[in-house]
Amino acid sequence: MNDPFSDSYATARTRFTAEAARSGASMRRYVNPDARGVDGEALVIDTASFGSIDAARGLLIVSGTHGPEGYAGSAAQLVLLRSQAFSARDTGIRVVLVHALNPYGFSHTTRSTENNVDLNRNFIDFSTGPPRANPAYAALHPAICPEDWSDASLADAAALQRRWIEQHGFDAWIGAINAGQYEIPTGFGYGGGAPEWSNRTLKKIVARELPAVEKLGFVDWHTGLGDYGAPLFLCFNERGGAEWEQACRWWGRERIETFGGFDGAARPAYSGLVFHGVQAMVASARVTGAVIEFGTGPIEEIFDWHRRDRWIRFGVSPDDEGLRARFRAGVKDAMCPPDPAWRSSVAYHAEEIQAAALDGVARW
Ligand SMILES: [Zn+2]
Repeated sequence: MNDPFSDSYATARTRFTAEAARSGASMRRYVNPDARGVDGEALVIDTASFGSIDAARGLLIVSGTHGPEGYAGSAAQLVLLRSQAFSARDTGIRVVLVHALNPYGFSHTTRSTENNVDLNRNFIDFSTGPPRANPAYAALHPAICPEDWSDASLADAAALQRRWIEQHGFDAWIGAINAGQYEIPTGFGYGGGAPEWSNRTLKKIVARELPAVEKLGFVDWHTGLGDYGAPLFLCFNERGGAEWEQACRWWGRERIETFGGFDGAARPAYSGLVFHGVQAMVASARVTGAVIEFGTGPIEEIFDWHRRDRWIRFGVSPDDEGLRARFRAGVKDAMCPPDPAWRSSVAYHAEEIQAAALDGVARW
């Protein structure tokens, strides 16, 4: 009962809304009109807000941008709700929790949305087109996304990848697969051709829940990258700028200025992050924040699960339901290990990190 981790999107939703209601939150629900969950359930982004709507300082905490990473993000939000950080004192801060930003991916245990869009690459200005072409991804696509999951095709894929890395280097490979691509809709890291429903809904939420915000703290919970069970901060504020320094004060310089997470490779030049979207939504406000990951395994293993996740949706071998089911369960465990030690570490760090953010925004 005290374990903040749920075993399905539907359960996570129920627990989040129950705890938020108990905490006296002002709550709203946003139902996805175009998709249903794995058991036919409605797909909903729930929000829970605390504090005066006129507050100039705000804290926005998002879970489930990448579907199965929502298990840990939802647990982090539940930990925060249970800590009663809001009801104990009037913080003068508008706190907004967004639960399951990508409910389709959460329910179906898949990274991307109902349109295979990686939501964390979707927040670009579509009126001016994609930020840049990613020909390196296009060249690597057959290696990353083999159509059939057989020994022969995997060997071909591995050979292509090896040749490509020999030619272009490991940094370029990390960049090619992670930066985002806007050309292959069934591929990995596809940023979409228009703002997704989740993107448009977040815009509505921010306008409605944070209308007066001038200083905004932002946390987007993820899993996968970093050391097992430990938080890895990806701060996208300008390095060395005032907001970057703010993040260092809140969470510790050594965490913000880390170069970890990519096996020694340079950090990819991401486009279309939720962080960028939020900055644009509150254009006149200052935003300090980070994607915060909890490491789950070696980067190459996690990436292999991303490939299997994509194969489940678009690969061939339609008769192999058993393989699909095994892969689906594997994706879940890869992004949210069942290990109690991992889960208690996530809960412990999440509580501390969110309390530090709340405290930091209060002093800002
Ligand atoms: Zn993620």
